[in-house]
Amino acid sequence: MIQLIRGVRDILPEEVGLWQKIEKTATSLFENFGFCEIRLPVIEFTELFARSIGQDTDIVEKEMYTFLNKKDELITLRPEATASVVRAYIQHRLYAVDPVQKFYTIGPMFRKERPQKGRYRQFYQINAEMIGVDSPLADAQLIFMLVELFNRLSVSDISIHLNSLGCPECRPGFKKTLQKFISNTTAKLCSDCDRRKDKNPLRVLDCKVFACREAMKDAPSITEHLCNECSEHFEAVKIALNDLNIIFEIDKRLVRGLDYYTRTTFEVQTGSLGAQSAVAGGGRYDKLIESLGGPSQPAIGFAIGFDRLAEIISSNSVEVSCKPDLFIAALGEKAKNMALKWSCDLSLSGIKTETDFSDKGLKGQMKKADRIAAAYVLILGDNELGEGSAILRNMTTKEQISVPVDGIVENIRLRFAENQKVL
Ligand code: ATP
Ligand code: MG
Repeated sequence: MIQLIRGVRDILPEEVGLWQKIEKTATSLFENFGFCEIRLPVIEFTELFARSIGQDTDIVEKEMYTFLNKKDELITLRPEATASVVRAYIQHRLYAVDPVQKFYTIGPMFRKERPQKGRYRQFYQINAEMIGVDSPLADAQLIFMLVELFNRLSVSDISIHLNSLGCPECRPGFKKTLQKFISNTTAKLCSDCDRRKDKNPLRVLDCKVFACREAMKDAPSITEHLCNECSEHFEAVKIALNDLNIIFEIDKRLVRGLDYYTRTTFEVQTGSLGAQSAVAGGGRYDKLIESLGGPSQPAIGFAIGFDRLAEIISSNSVEVSCKPDLFIAALGEKAKNMALKWSCDLSLSGIKTETDFSDKGLKGQMKKADRIAAAYVLILGDNELGEGSAILRNMTTKEQISVPVDGIVENIRLRFAENQKVL
């Protein structure tokens, strides 16, 4: 039997109710904050990611699914969405009318990581990106919106980690200080960090290997090396978050795994996921648009790990969305033909109606109605047909009544529409 590829997974109908709930909650919240949906392809030229995410990041060095197309061009399955959002903003000159643009997008990302719980090779993200605003108030507003999403989904076990990564003015100085710290440590770093420590020492701060984490415990803090402007920006973000009653902690290790970040970076972590504790991450990328050939516009955004968010939320709290309101158990040719017509009419009027066209007897059909958790069953057999009526049964209370076949669709529609007890 052909099975799933390692590291990818199916989201089965029983989980989809939860995924849809998350999606609806996120989209309606984001739209209230003025974000518009953008849908982007899952393949792009490799160069887009290499140039934006950074050559010596984990993602670009070893996690991308890349292939040559027939024209010998390098193509990559997107590992993240921000680069594509920026590409679209530049390519379609979305800045021409107004440089301020707010987008959200939801979809699959691909990274060749070691599969484990909460870490997949195809996973889903919900992204929100705000381009064209450099005010620290925008940072606070975006974080507020993200926290509100967790509130609306009743996810309470979260903490907001905040840091600033400075800018091209002040980061080089910090990099040097960090390089010095690393070269003075006697601890043995993992081979990746050892290789990257000179060129990109910030990556060592982000490493998840225990030995590297230990080695960097007393590493210098970037927030002590910020230039005046970055420092003022960071202070203003903290004040604005306090004004919005957002509780956060400063996390000097939070450098994020992508090179394009500047200034504010943040992560939402949870205690409910074990090792894979980051459920969302984001930050400013004030130089990225210009570096990809667009106008010099600041930006900030975040990505929520959809799979991890769904994992935290207890699936019990969500109704199984495909549970039918009504199951029509029809016996015999004539009854089945009537059931077909009724089920179409009732479905169109918004009542989730299920019917069974097999040759099962009444017992078999009732069993099926039970199994799919139908709230009501309409039974139509030869006897009933002869009497010009069908039986409507409440599957919870087992109460049942006889309903005339004449005008039955309207009759049932009204019972459901009254939104009270159907019977
Ligand atoms: P992590 O620290 O867990 O590796 P990351 O910093 O690589 O995450 P980002 O690139 O910032 O992650 O992506 C944002 C969010 O996407 C993460 O916080 C996480 O919830 C989710 N995510 C990232 N990689 C995966 C994956 N392989 N499988 C499932 N979710 C993921
Ligand atoms: Mg990662």
